[in-house]
Amino acid sequence: MWTLILHGGASEIPPEKEQAFRAGCLVALEHGASVLRNGGTAVDAVEAAVRSLEDDPTFNAGLGSALNEDGEVEMCAAVMEGTGFNVGAVSIISGVRHPVSVARAMLYEEPILLSGDGALHFAEEKHLEICDPSALVTEHREADKYDTVGAIAMDDRLRIAVATSTGGIDGKPKGRVGDSPQPGCGFYVDDAIGAVAFSGDGEHIARKILAARVMHALPDASPERAIWEALSQVKSIGGEAGGIAISARGELGWAHNSPDFAVAYAGSALAEPHVYLRKSEERANGHEVEKITRWQ
Ligand code: ASP
Repeated sequence: MWTLILHGGASEIPPEKEQAFRAGCLVALEHGASVLRNGGTAVDAVEAAVRSLEDDPTFNAGLGSALNEDGEVEMCAAVMEGTGFNVGAVSIISGVRHPVSVARAMLYEEPILLSGDGALHFAEEKHLEICDPSALVTEHREADKYDTVGAIAMDDRLRIAVATSTGGIDGKPKGRVGDSPQPGCGFYVDDAIGAVAFSGDGEHIARKILAARVMHALPDASPERAIWEALSQVKSIGGEAGGIAISARGELGWAHNSPDFAVAYAGSALAEPHVYLRKSEERANGHEVEKITRWQ
């Protein structure tokens, strides 16, 4: 049994971009699902899914990242696994194709987070894909405010992993770091409880330690309910966000107080993959995810 859920960001999705969001999510889902179908690990699956989203300029991660106030790309990414509580994260890194793979390479290193030149130096040492920083700037990056990407997988040995990757918020100050590389804020995982990944107002998410709140709620609440409770906290200080989660019981869920939130999921217990871009689609389809995917 395996399951995978990912998101393409808590942004408003204009009608002309719907197709690109839907297709990009499904392609990424297939990259991750094929790892799990072939007996691969949850860590490999989330890395594969997020790499695919980083390659797609539709999303604010890797190629097509948001630009800071100086017009530069500075990215953040993280990978965490819930068996040994290992975390690898990078922040304000530029000049790498796949920040999530740098985070993945950090996973079993002693430091959990490297920034800027230190992170780039680490990527070079590990012979990861280096590129000219300008190669990640796409011609027409619209000023979408929120759209970190993230993925959570549970593999057939019930190990859970989570990954995030983001270009951050358009026009952000140089050197700014949001929630996405901070455990307990933008993401967290514990095999005994479940996992969560957020997108949205990074400062608000960090100030209210959203991922930590979801982890505290998950043993007794469904993923969707646990995220809703955390979102009410972010809302109370004026923020917008969306989150995906998996419980150790094998339930999937998501919630958002942003206008849209691109979510896709697949699992060995499901006949086909699903993708939703907004609440109206979720309602139309009954949003029966948790019932469908529960297996324990
Ligand atoms: N949470 C991200 C950040 O604050 C932004 C986003 O989700 O778009 O860097």
